[in-house]
Amino acid sequence: MGMNLVILGPPGAGKGTQAVRLAQAFSLRHLSSGDLLRAERARGSELGKKAAEYMDAGKLVPDEIIIGAVLAQLSSLGDKAGLLLDGFPRTVAQAESLDKALAEAGKRVDAVPALAVPDEMILDRITGRRTCPRCNAVYHVKTLPPAQEGICDADGTALVQRPDDTAEVVKQRLDAYHRQTAPLEAYYRKKGLLVEVDGSLEMDAVFRALSKAVRRRLGME
Ligand code: AMP
Repeated sequence: MGMNLVILGPPGAGKGTQAVRLAQAFSLRHLSSGDLLRAERARGSELGKKAAEYMDAGKLVPDEIIIGAVLAQLSSLGDKAGLLLDGFPRTVAQAESLDKALAEAGKRVDAVPALAVPDEMILDRITGRRTCPRCNAVYHVKTLPPAQEGICDADGTALVQRPDDTAEVVKQRLDAYHRQTAPLEAYYRKKGLLVEVDGSLEMDAVFRALSKAVRRRLGME
């Protein structure tokens, strides 16, 4: 049975990019609630339609909608997979539901790495972000450009800017983060699970710090 990690951080902290690398390094299943919602929208499902208006406004999708969707995906993964949760939980109610669901399966959250990045850096990082609509790979026009401008290195798809990565929507998302998600740090700190990592460094340095923090927290070094 693998370990279960939750990665926290404001939008634009590099959470998605680091999550992919961490999942690989620790052999975990990467589960991104944002990717899940974008896939539902692309399919045109009821869930996708309900989530769309909140996402486009930079607001959190209501707990009643997101909790069921993520927990259903979790239980479909079976017992063996260790998990890296990225983008969920984002409210204390979501964290409590997650704890309950994991406990019912005899599991728990083992560590919660949290990326700290000052708000000033975030706008720059997010507005330069480009993503692959097919494989969800993340790039940045300045700090992480693809080999060929505008084209995904992995599958040659034309990169896009997420519609919620515009300056106006990012302000809303940051506001939602501070009001609804930041309290999760205290929630996990109280349980002794939080490991804070400086997310303002360059990407490889953040990854090294993250891996080290996780290994130490889990008693692997
Ligand atoms: P992300 O890709 O994680 O930045 O998520 C994109 C958008 O999806 C967010 O701005 C929210 O509107 C929505 N979303 C993703 N995960 C959650 C969640 N756990 N709770 C509520 N809304 C979410």
